[in-house]
Amino acid sequence: MPKLIAAPNIAIATLWVDVLAEAGIAASVQRYFMSGLAGEMPPDQCQPEVWLVHAEQEPQARALLDELANLPQRRWACTCGEQVEGGFETCWQCGTAMPG
Ligand SMILES: [Zn+2]
Repeated sequence: MPKLIAAPNIAIATLWVDVLAEAGIAASVQRYFMSGLAGEMPPDQCQPEVWLVHAEQEPQARALLDELANLPQRRWACTCGEQVEGGFETCWQCGTAMPG
């Protein structure tokens, strides 16, 4: 099982595995169990990693993650002055919809 990529944190590693699974690429998160030891180990030893089940799917998997990394930033400024981030289409502060 080849290592595909190291993720900055477990949430992102899990997201990547989900995205890969949706595309029919089997992958899993490794070193998951070590996240609780952060601080006691060198950072590169506790980073979660995404590993592929099938090595031949690596080019496809990398292309997919590249695409994910290059998505336009969904960040917009609401008329109430709030900066809305993270893909929300309505302001969490006042409920105004994202301007088209
Ligand atoms: Zn607002």
